[in-house]
Amino acid sequence: MAAGENRGHGGNSGYDDQVDAYYSWDSNVPNHKSLAVGDPIALWDKERLLGVSVIEAIDTAHGLKLLNRCPRCNTSRISERKRSQPRYRCMRCHAEFEDPRTEVVEVLEYKARYDAAWTSLDGILDGDEMRSLAVHTGDFNAMRSLDWVAFREALMAKDARSAVDRVTARIDLAWAANSSVPIEIPQGFTHALVRIRRGQQQFRDQLLAAQGSMCALTGGAPARVLEAGHLYSYAQLGTHFKHGGLMLRRDIHRLFDDGSLAVHPSTLRIDVAPGLAKYPQYARLQDERLTVRLHDEQVDWLDKHWQEHRVDAQPSD
Ligand SMILES: [Zn+2]
Repeated sequence: MAAGENRGHGGNSGYDDQVDAYYSWDSNVPNHKSLAVGDPIALWDKERLLGVSVIEAIDTAHGLKLLNRCPRCNTSRISERKRSQPRYRCMRCHAEFEDPRTEVVEVLEYKARYDAAWTSLDGILDGDEMRSLAVHTGDFNAMRSLDWVAFREALMAKDARSAVDRVTARIDLAWAANSSVPIEIPQGFTHALVRIRRGQQQFRDQLLAAQGSMCALTGGAPARVLEAGHLYSYAQLGTHFKHGGLMLRRDIHRLFDDGSLAVHPSTLRIDVAPGLAKYPQYARLQDERLTVRLHDEQVDWLDKHWQEHRVDAQPSD
């Protein structure tokens, strides 16, 4: 997915994106129905790779969109030029013009959220490398299919194994928790079949009921800033799934996911990675006890998390 200035929206009025958290598009763009919850994604700005993640949720809504069209052939595939005059050029018939024909159209708006697994890989692959990894080289769309196997190999070759592992784990998790169900789409639009994370809401409700309005690491917090954090990084579901989570404050969740925060499985005290030492609000968590009581399954999961982020990282420990 192309983000930022170079996303190329000569034909429309821009999108609400935040590169490390969510991406918006609408039913007017090519491939608009191709993305689903659980899909791995890579974002780039057409000059370099920005990062990778896995889609957690896709929201849809009715919307209106201002479309700019070529006054000669009517396509919306026009590019806005920053330096040349006239300002617009048609990518189909090559007409150049100052004022596009404008039109307001009804669209279905999509917004994909993927902040939990976001891993910045700023610039480890350049634009040409990214282009060569597309399923169809020569694809010019803002959203295009990536050859995931080749892409993963390219990341491994740049020592980005942990990013690959993290994303792979999230894919497994999302797929395991998903099933194909039709998303409720506002009237007047065809139904799209999109996998949604069924059970995620239930999982959160269950944890909230068991744990109260508490972040397991930092204590009481409003429910709206609490997330159901999965304690495992590799999908190992089954009977353990029910207790395979903890409610965590949103920022704590992110730091736990990347191992900046971990919990020692035998003392159940928090361990803060050196990278967080300069932030007093996180540094003070060192050696603190959890604020909730845990099931054995949860301790097992914390153990696995610890093995992955502490023991493997410090073989002498
Ligand atoms: Zn044209």
